[in-house]
Parts: sequence; structure tokens; C-alpha cells
Amino acid sequence: MFVDIAKIHLKAGKGGDGAVSFHREKYVAAGGPDGGDGGKGGDIVFKADSNLSTLADFRYKRKYAAEGGQNGGASRCTGKSAQDLTISVPVGTLVKDAETGRIIADISDDEPVVIAKGGNGGWGNQHFATSTRQVPRFAKSGNPGEELDVTLELKLLADVGLIGFPNVGKSTLVSVVSEAKPKIANYHFTTLTPVLGVVRMGEGSSFVIADIPGLIEGAGEGVGLGHEFLRHVERCRMLLHVLDISGSEGRDPIDDFDKINHELEVFSEELSKRPQIVVGNKCDLIEEDEINRIAEYFESKGYKFFPVMAAIAEGTDELINYVAAELQKLPPILKYEAEPKPEPEIKSNKREFTIRVDNGIYYVENCDWINDIMNRVDPDDYESLQYFERVLRQSGIIDALEGAGVNEGDTVNVCDVEFDFVP
Ligand code: GDP
Ligand code: MG
Repeated sequence: MFVDIAKIHLKAGKGGDGAVSFHREKYVAAGGPDGGDGGKGGDIVFKADSNLSTLADFRYKRKYAAEGGQNGGASRCTGKSAQDLTISVPVGTLVKDAETGRIIADISDDEPVVIAKGGNGGWGNQHFATSTRQVPRFAKSGNPGEELDVTLELKLLADVGLIGFPNVGKSTLVSVVSEAKPKIANYHFTTLTPVLGVVRMGEGSSFVIADIPGLIEGAGEGVGLGHEFLRHVERCRMLLHVLDISGSEGRDPIDDFDKINHELEVFSEELSKRPQIVVGNKCDLIEEDEINRIAEYFESKGYKFFPVMAAIAEGTDELINYVAAELQKLPPILKYEAEPKPEPEIKSNKREFTIRVDNGIYYVENCDWINDIMNRVDPDDYESLQYFERVLRQSGIIDALEGAGVNEGDTVNVCDVEFDFVP
């Protein structure tokens, strides 16, 4: 069974907790704090694997979790960081945030992409000694790893996509111009899974052609078969619209053409404007005059028209040469840009908090909202610290501390993290 869409749950590893520990040595009375930091939790990384062609694996396994980092230890021992979890997907898989639909990544080249970040390890108590607090009995716990639902959508990477009604000869065409051998038979919907064929033009040049199941009326609205397959031609640089111009199944080829284009429009306005070449197949079944009439019709509409007999590869070389030349002029295969993650905005500039001064230490309290922000702050990252400072300033905490008489070098305690005040 061909599966080209899936929804899975990702949970990156939690950072290890920082340790609370004090240096102990014979004859050394009061050792300093030496609790080490927790290790980083594992990331969840996506990587394209050209051996995969469907998302079938994700039908059965829907939950993926990376390991957590190890906790810190005594003697400044940093916990071990966890290994990343790598998930292999077919080339051309779009990863979207299931909740918002935001495109997180297009896994269509060799570059592995981190989709869920592991949490940073918490700081051990070795970091929390200040001039006024020699015996810090706390450490930070590790940050949680990112957790989210993502949808995976496979959008094949092909230069040329074949569209048309069932049984018009799409698979036959692919089989004579490429090495791919899709199933061909005289009944509808022999092709149930998209097939990619490589068309070799000699001198090392080649392009990829995608055979998808035939479209039927109403496909664009999701009626019957077809709609879900259109996503596989969405990236194509050009479409070959295959028609049975003999009308061997009792339909009119021009009517077919309009119906399929209507389906395309319903599915995607943009896709319906992709360059289209009309391929009139089964020429062996009708008279020369009739072929000419149909050719004239499409040419008058501004389409390039190729009469062919796919079954005996008649006319297909001319078609393929023309396609190859046209591709030279067209932009490369569509790559989807990752959409930016909305920055966690500080909603109002003033947030709730209280300040208590005890024993020379300035405690910022009753501010649960800041916990969330603290969890995201990476103390080793300059930009991250600047962000944190901005939060303190915009929320009015800095002003309030100054109002309470804080001076440079005084100890400030926010959510159990202590630091020296720097104005
Ligand atoms: P698809 O459903 O569009 O992929 O169509 P297929 O490639 O499976 O072909 C459907 C039927 O049309 C098969 O029986 C083919 O042998 C037949 N066919 C393909 N090309 C030609 C042709 O040029 N002339 C004639 N008479 N029949 C053809
Ligand atoms: Mg077919």
C-alpha cells in the first residue's frame, strides 16, 4: 500500500539535571560547591533516504522519543549528552507542524534537519555560588526537550509530471521513454502508486518523469481517486497532459482536457498555471484528418501538441527532445522554504512579580510566567542571555529591583537562579 501522508508525535530528550554536591576531601573543612551540569537531551533529526519511497513505516510507529541527557555528578562531572534520534524519510518529504500547518522542513537533499531540539542540561550548583551565597543547595533541572506533532507529506521530486484520465496511455509512455516499468493494462487504475522514471538523453543529461494514477472528475474536490496524487506533481517543472485522442472509451479528448484542467485548478491555482504540453496518444486508432484537427485546436489555444503512439514509441523521441529543451529554460524543481517559527512574544510589557529582599539577596517571586522563559534560555549563548535581559527589562523587573535599592554586584535570585546584578 502506498502511503504518502502520516502524522507522528515527536519528543526530544530532556536535559539532565544539574547536581548539588560539595567538594569533600580529608582535612578540608568546607569544600565549595562542585555539582556538575546535566547533559543535553537528544535531538530528533530527519534525514532523506533514497531507498525509501513511501511513508508506510509511519503508519505503524507513530511515537518517536529521543533519550534524555544524563544528570550531572559530583566533582564537576558533566552528565553525558544523549545521542540524537535520526528518522529516515523518503526524499521529498515535507515536515509540517500538525497544529499550525507551518512548514518546518523540506527533506529533499542530503542535509539532515533537526526537527525537535533536545533540552539543555541544567546547571549544577557549582555555578550558583556568589559572594553572599557560599553554599548553594540547589541546581537547575534539565530543560524539557521539544515536543510536537508533525505531519509528513511526501511530494515526489520530478521534473515532469504526467496527468490525464485513466487508461489514456500514461504508463505506456513512461515505459517507452524511461527505464521505469509501471504496470500497463487495459483497465482503469492499474497505476495505484506514483512511479518515477529517469529519462536519459545521452551526454549525461537526464530528467525525471512521474507517472501518477489517472485523474477523474471530482478528484480536485477529493471525490474518488486522484486528489491525493496531485501533490506528487506539485513540484514538477512541467506537466505532460496525455489524451486518448481516438476517444476509444467514448469520451471526447478536448472535453477530457478541460475536465482535468478544471481538477487542477480546484486543487491548486498555481499548479494549473504550470507549463503544459499536450500529448495526443493512440494516433493509430484515428484518421490523419482528425489528428490534424485536434492538433490545430490545441495550437490555436497556445499549447504545443505532439501526436504519438506510445505503445510503439512512435513520436515519443520528438516529444522527449522538446521536453528536454524546454526544461533548460524552466526554474529548478520547487523546494519548499521552512517557515519561520514565531518568536515567543512577550505579550504585555508588564508582567506580575514581587520583590523581596532578604539578607541582602533580592528575590524576584510570584512570577511563574518567567519560568517558561528561563527554561528556554541557554546560559552559554550570548544572544539567548540578551533575550533574557530584554525580558527582565521589558517586564519592569530591572526597574523594580533598582527601586528596591539593588546595587551592582548584589545577588539577585529569579526562580532559584542567582546571578550578580549588573545594571
Ligand atoms: P494509463 O492508465 O494512462 O497509465 O494507461 P496505460 O499506459 O496503462 O494504457 C492503457 C491501455 O492503452 C493499455 O491497454 C495500452 O496498451 C493501451 N495503449 C497505450 N498506448 C497506446 C497506443 O498508442 N495505441 C493504442 N491503440 N493503445 C495504446
Ligand atoms: Mg497507468
